Amino acid sequence: MSDSTSRVALVSGGSRGIGRATVRALARDGFDVAFCYRSDDDAARDLEKSGQEFGVRVVGTRADVADGAAVRGWIEATEDRLGPIDAAVTAAGITRDNPLVLMDDEQWRQVIDTNLDGVYHVCRAVVFGMMKRRRGAIVNISSVAGVYGHRTQTNYSASKAGIIGFSRALAKETGRSGIRVNAVAPGFIETDMVAEMNDKARKEALASIPLGRMGTAHEVADMVAYLASDRAAYVTGAVLQIDGGITI
Ligand code: NAP
Repeated sequence: MSDSTSRVALVSGGSRGIGRATVRALARDGFDVAFCYRSDDDAARDLEKSGQEFGVRVVGTRADVADGAAVRGWIEATEDRLGPIDAAVTAAGITRDNPLVLMDDEQWRQVIDTNLDGVYHVCRAVVFGMMKRRRGAIVNISSVAGVYGHRTQTNYSASKAGIIGFSRALAKETGRSGIRVNAVAPGFIETDMVAEMNDKARKEALASIPLGRMGTAHEVADMVAYLASDRAAYVTGAVLQIDGGITI
């Protein structure tokens, strides 16, 4: 059961990977959870079943985080159906890798629109309500690429670095209103996103991870659930890395 009185959590990009594991971790901790996704209806319907498993409500909605109006509509409908939002997690993210010399405008735009504008749209839509209630926790999923940069990922690294600056600025703006804002920066985590890597890149990545393996979505979700809970009541503006030591 939850150690907090918070009841409603929001997860963007919740149908697969880290977002999916986060939906389940928050449901396990006693939150009713609303998540959004872009296209995979089957994955969303399957995940909604975790509501019965944990005795809470889990509701998936198709909404593209790059579309501000769609995000506002999703969040208004969630508040009507489940009540005010106590915790928001932004996990929706994509990659469109290419060395900068070969990158086209669309690859740049899609990544910034989804990863960075997506965080803005979700946080903008929840922050006023949280300020009024003087309570809220926001967890934005960044990446070690946003801290250190990753070759062939100027677009992705810029979006994830942007999330860190955004989170710290918002933590300063809203701390006195009882809101905590933190970022989580994962290294290589076994999800569909990483499954796209070729064998050579995977071998190189594994060789550089002191713990000798990639992380799991559950391990990231547990850190997110901690930051969303009252156990992290004195943590704000933090960027928690979860990367098997790859950045040592
Ligand atoms: P994933 O397995 O590819 O899942 C991405 C999720 O985001 C899916 O549920 C997808 O829904 C949703 N999504 C994508 N674009 C969206 C959009 N425009 N609007 C709404 N939902 C959208 O990715 P992941 O590996 O779990 O990554 C989750 C987050 O962690 C991302 O922000 C990623 O950058 C970050 N991260 C991942 C790693 C890693 O190694 N995996 C490392 C560092 C950071 P649909 O299936 O419906 O498209």
